[in-house]
Amino acid sequence: MSALLTVDKISSGYGDIPVLRDVSLQVGSNEIVSVVGANGAGKTTLLRSIAGLLPCTRGTIQFDGRRIDGLPAHQVVVRGLVMVPEGGRLFPFMSVQENLELGAFNGSARPQLQATLEEVFNLFPILASRRGQLAGSLSGGERQMCAIARAVMSQPKLLMLDEPSLGLSPLMVERMFEIIAALAHSKRIAVLLVEQNVGDALEMAHRGYVVERGQIVKTGSGPDLLADPEVQQAYLGL
Ligand code: ATP
Repeated sequence: MSALLTVDKISSGYGDIPVLRDVSLQVGSNEIVSVVGANGAGKTTLLRSIAGLLPCTRGTIQFDGRRIDGLPAHQVVVRGLVMVPEGGRLFPFMSVQENLELGAFNGSARPQLQATLEEVFNLFPILASRRGQLAGSLSGGERQMCAIARAVMSQPKLLMLDEPSLGLSPLMVERMFEIIAALAHSKRIAVLLVEQNVGDALEMAHRGYVVERGQIVKTGSGPDLLADPEVQQAYLGL
């Protein structure tokens, strides 16, 4: 496996409050990796640290052969590492299409805006039919799709998704994970997903990491982690 992203022993936190300690993980090209753990374990903090939104106090991050720790977030995006925050954070008073077009603001994605827009509408037909509608009027699932599609507009090599299943019905959760897997496959995008929905997230992942109190406590293939008695007891209610 050639590692696209290598996080090596990073620590980070908020002011004097340490949250992540010595966290290491890797994501290979075209790989889907899930980071699972309870509420408050540090999953969002991990994504924010990788995205350059929160400085690391220790450790290094390599992406696509270059160090990215210390770079401002917008430079990380330009290199092809894009985060979809929890809830999607769309602009509610702009149309679906306007939100999507904003995803292609960076220099390398802009010339291909029309072609990528067509591609995204093929991947997410519901967004094509709602392209003129205000983003604020979309359902929870559609909003999440629009946020993912907006990230795809920037031509990412790696998508980081923060709790894409949050607030969705069980049926919609299943559909959302299917869409993410299909997207990763068809566009050859690697995915780093953080989730409290441990079962579904590990089921769709090639590999996973379990995070507790800011540290990685277990790693393995998706099926191995799902079969792990400690994971089953702590997170799957078995
Ligand atoms: P959730 O699923 O609830 O978002 P999480 O695993 O993503 O959980 P984080 O949001 O990364 O967890 O939070 C990890 C710890 O950092 C928690 O103890 C939280 O209270 C703390 N924390 C998060 N954001 C801040 C902040 N802006 N300032 C101070 N502490 C924070």
